[in-house]
Amino acid sequence: MPKMLLLVLFLIPMCIAGQDMRCPAVHGISPHQSPSDYARFQALLSFKLKENHNIRPRTINYFPVVIHVVAREGDIPVTEAQVLNQLDVMNADFAGRGQNIPKLLPEFLSIAGQADMQFCLAKTDPEGNPTSGITYTETDIDNIALQTGPEGRIAIHYDQLGGKTGWDPSRYINIWIGAYGDILGSASFPGSAPFPEETGIVIDPKYFGSIGEAGNSGNFGRGHTLTHEMGHYFGLKHIWGEGLEINCEDSDDIPDTPNAAGPYYGCPEGEQITCETSDMYQNFMDFSDDRCLAAFTNDQVAFMQTAQEVYYPDLPVDGSCAPTTDTFESWFHNLSWSHDAASDTYIIYSDEVFNATRDISVFSADGRLAYQGEWSFGQSYLVNLKNLAAGVYFLRIDQDEQYFVRSIVIY
Ligand SMILES: [Zn+2]
Repeated sequence: MPKMLLLVLFLIPMCIAGQDMRCPAVHGISPHQSPSDYARFQALLSFKLKENHNIRPRTINYFPVVIHVVAREGDIPVTEAQVLNQLDVMNADFAGRGQNIPKLLPEFLSIAGQADMQFCLAKTDPEGNPTSGITYTETDIDNIALQTGPEGRIAIHYDQLGGKTGWDPSRYINIWIGAYGDILGSASFPGSAPFPEETGIVIDPKYFGSIGEAGNSGNFGRGHTLTHEMGHYFGLKHIWGEGLEINCEDSDDIPDTPNAAGPYYGCPEGEQITCETSDMYQNFMDFSDDRCLAAFTNDQVAFMQTAQEVYYPDLPVDGSCAPTTDTFESWFHNLSWSHDAASDTYIIYSDEVFNATRDISVFSADGRLAYQGEWSFGQSYLVNLKNLAAGVYFLRIDQDEQYFVRSIVIY
C-alpha cells in the first residue's frame, strides 16, 4: 500500500474542531523552535505591554494574503466576492469594529483592542507578475486538508500531493481553502510549521466568509473562524490556556484577558464567571459561535504585533497590496457587482478601501425605497434581498452631495 494512504489520519492537525468547536489542541509559540527569536520576542513583548500602545502612531500595516482554493470538480465554487467578503469580516474584527462589537459586555469595553493590522489580496506574485491574489487548483482527493503524504506532509500544501504549493511564507500569508472533514480550520504558530512550506492557515470552504457555501453554515457561518486562526498564526493561544481541561491553573499568557477555566460553546448571555472574574467568551480566541465573537483585547493586539515584527518581519515590505484611493466617481465605475443566490444577497465590491460613509439605497421601479444601509468599512458590501419581489430595481450610492445609480435585476 502506498505510504501516503497509511499515514492518513495518523497525524493530528494542530486545530481540530468537532461539530461545535474550534481547535482544541494548540501550544503557542515554542521557545525551543528558535531560542534567539523567542528571546527577542519576549523582550519586545514586555516592552510593548508596558508602553501605552494606544499612543504610538497608528500607521496601518497591510499584509498581503494569497488564497489557494483547492477543490474537487463539482464543489460549490469559492468566488472572488466570497474571498473579499471574508477579508472584510476579518479586517473589521482586527480593526475593533466587527459586527458584534455593539454586543460586547460593558466590563470589556476598555480592553477591546484595535489592531493596526489589515489584510489584502496580494497584487504581485512571487515572480513579480500581477495577480488576483487567488489561485484555483482542481484536486481528485476527498477532504484534501486531512490527507498526509511522505514524512507526514499535509497534502493540501503541495502540488505533487494533489494540493497547491504555497508562496514564500516570509512575504505572503498563505491561506488554503479545502475540504476539512469536521474541522473548521487550523493555523501554524510562528516558527512552528514542521516544514516551512506548511506555514499558513487552512479553512474549510463552509466556514470561509459569510456568503456562498458559508452563508448556510449556521453557528460558524459569519466568517470569524479565519479571525480566530489568524490569531493563532500571530501566536495567540485560546483564551482559557492550553488543552481542554477545565481548571483555573493554566493561562493564555496575555495579561489583560480574564482567566477562564475552559472554552465556551454556543453563545451565552450576560456575565459568566469561572475563575472569580467575568469570562470573556466574546473573545475571538474562544470557541463560542460566530454570532457571539466580538473582540481581541489590547494585550492580544500587542502580542500579535510583536509576533509579526519578530517572526514575519518581511510581510508588509514585499508584495505590498496597500489599497489606493481615488475619486468617488472612478471608485463607483470600478465597482464589481454580483448576486449570491445561496444567501439571496447582492454583493458590491471594490479594489479600494475608503474612509468615508456611503449611503446605499435601493429603489423599486416606481420609486419606492426598498432598502437602505450604510457602507462605512471594508471592500465589499452585502445588500440583503430576501424581502424583495422579483423585478428591476435601482441601487443608489451617495457620498456627501454626490451620488451614482445603477440598475439591478432580482430574479
Ligand atoms: Zn483555535
